Amino acid sequence: MPIIGAHQSIAGGHFKAVERAHSVGCECVQLFTGDVKRWPNRANRKAAQSDRLLTKNNNQWRAKELTDEDVQQFQAKLKELGVAHPLAHDSYLINLASPDRELWKKSVEAFIIETFRADRLGIPYLVTHPGAHTTSSEEAGIAAVVRALDEVHRQTRGIKTKCLLETTAGQGSCLGRTFEQLAAMLDGVADPDRLGICVDTCHIFAAGYPLGTEKDYKATMRALDKTIGLKPVKAFHVNDSLKPLGSRVDRHAHIGRGMLGKDAFRFLMNDRRFRHVPMYLETPKGEEKGKNLDEINLRTLRRMVEKR
Ligand SMILES: [Zn+2]
Ligand SMILES: [Zn+2]
Repeated sequence: MPIIGAHQSIAGGHFKAVERAHSVGCECVQLFTGDVKRWPNRANRKAAQSDRLLTKNNNQWRAKELTDEDVQQFQAKLKELGVAHPLAHDSYLINLASPDRELWKKSVEAFIIETFRADRLGIPYLVTHPGAHTTSSEEAGIAAVVRALDEVHRQTRGIKTKCLLETTAGQGSCLGRTFEQLAAMLDGVADPDRLGICVDTCHIFAAGYPLGTEKDYKATMRALDKTIGLKPVKAFHVNDSLKPLGSRVDRHAHIGRGMLGKDAFRFLMNDRRFRHVPMYLETPKGEEKGKNLDEINLRTLRRMVEKR
């Protein structure tokens, strides 16, 4: 059986995301680790740094804005409810590809803090969108991402949490819409062992990779294998797409109700190469006829799994 869950809100505490996940039948959970709307300011940057100085001997890097209680409650809840593979997603404000020096620096700082936070919570992977090159070129954008990740790795040495670069729909100048761009980032960094990939089904489809027929699905996975390889793929985002193939517009739809269709998900759910790779829904929340929509989507996916 594939391992499937969903993104959940941390409102009320990090452990609440685990409770929400469990209550709708998730086996794994994705969450934001903190206030995603706030940039790190000088004060919390300093605090993060002094924490690091205090604890660098035992590599117990400490993150800002998290208490010991937050961490303990979160870990205890995962254990108690049997929810596995917690995954962190970074703030959408972060742009590691920015040609604007100030924005790039702020993004690197914010990403370092996010890495500390995820590590402190015991979360093995932190997902990020590679960023947008805006006024510069694709090549310059990729180089900026590589420089940023090298700097993050340098400043978080000894930390277990690894970064997962997410495939994107390629809206505007957003990087990550081709497997080649992501492969260039993996190849470019000094320490590729600290990186992996998160594949979003909606995004790759919107970026132009078809999945709807068995032939399409196989060809897309072959393209992924040839460029990035399948081993760096540590997570999937399972979302249907409101917009058509190659539209480069990122709009998530409920499973089987978008342009991707049910077959694409059936191929993925039964692809034994990914049976140990956790998969997370990022579909709209809410209820339908009194039923929770996450529950409906999870059931749709589980029904596709063929017995063998
Ligand atoms: Zn995603
Ligand atoms: Zn998306």
